[in-house]
Amino acid sequence: METITNKIENILYKSELTRSDLKYMLLLTEPADRKQLFERAYQIKEELIGKKVYYRGLIEFSNICSKDCLYCGIRRSNKNNDLYEITDDEVIEAVKYAMDARFGSVVIQAGERSNKKHTRHITSLIRRIKEISNGNAGITLSLGEQDELTYREWFEAGAHRYLLRIEVSNPELYVKLHPNNKMHDFQQRLRCLQMIKDIGYQVGTGVMIGLPFQTIDDLVDDLMFMKDFDVDMVGMGPYIEHPDTPLYQYRKTLLPRKGRFNLALNMIATLRILMKDINIASTTALQAIDPLGREKGLKAGANIIMPNITPCRYRKDYQLYEDKPCVNENPDDCKDCLEKRIGFAGDIVAYDEWGDSRHFERRMLRK
Ligand code: SAH
Ligand code: SF4
Repeated sequence: METITNKIENILYKSELTRSDLKYMLLLTEPADRKQLFERAYQIKEELIGKKVYYRGLIEFSNICSKDCLYCGIRRSNKNNDLYEITDDEVIEAVKYAMDARFGSVVIQAGERSNKKHTRHITSLIRRIKEISNGNAGITLSLGEQDELTYREWFEAGAHRYLLRIEVSNPELYVKLHPNNKMHDFQQRLRCLQMIKDIGYQVGTGVMIGLPFQTIDDLVDDLMFMKDFDVDMVGMGPYIEHPDTPLYQYRKTLLPRKGRFNLALNMIATLRILMKDINIASTTALQAIDPLGREKGLKAGANIIMPNITPCRYRKDYQLYEDKPCVNENPDDCKDCLEKRIGFAGDIVAYDEWGDSRHFERRMLRK
């Protein structure tokens, strides 16, 4: 008769995982079982991509957003934030800081805006970042849905990775989490991901975990979506409610935060076992629930950390969710606190490297 331990081991070492295997892994709650899951994920990371953790300096460029996602604290209808856009000089300062700290890459993230002036502005910033870093800074963008020409213009200016979370892969659930209009269209988000891929970016996507109305089967679908779309990078973390958003009314229906956190770690580990050579970020939302959240993410198989290098005075206005960490700290504090704890997972910080997704390199070879 198959014992429980045997069953887990059999799944963890299988070459083809089925939906029910994925579900089984996501539902593990016993500490000993989860330990096994995380150890297997960590072992795969170590074997295929090494113990290196890559830093991406995150610049929260602007909280101006034309969209109204029902979960997000900087949605257009929330008037409780002071709107900002970081000046070019401040962006350059932040990039210099990242380069001095020997982070190989930066991420420019912001609310979504689509107009010519904004597009050109971002293009010129990408060029300047490339110039001042002598081409050394890797640039990732996370600026939402755009048209093909815009994605292409930014790629040609020097950005080489793009993060666009699908948020949830179930179209029916997507509708419940977004206003029902053309601006919030699941199919369009999918088309954008495809454009990003076709242009030649390293493609990053991701989901929120523990959303209202979301089921375990939805999360299994999310993992299958990432696999089928053959993404290069994933950033996913727990959904955290924000009082100034419509979804806040469903907070009593949610898993407790700790449960969402645990589920997020199970998702990371399961994804590592499913897609062995991709880059997986250990996201700030993990840290919002547990002070050692990101380090635990590394233990569960993640290999990317995104230290926030946004100038301090803007951070209070980029609250995507409640309790976002490091809002009152300056960038140095953040770097120091991170440095101290990074050894926790037994990982090694890779300095001055872009840390491109191995999966992307292999995908290009297959082309
Ligand atoms: N506007 C861009 C990028 C900024 S938002 C975009 O939407 O793609 C970056 C991510 O923050 C989103 O993709 C979403 O997954 C996450 N996010 C927003 N609100 C959140 C919340 N309440 N809890 C957890 N993550 C959230
Ligand atoms: Fe805007 Fe992104 Fe927030 Fe949606 S998730 S409201 S697009 S910043």
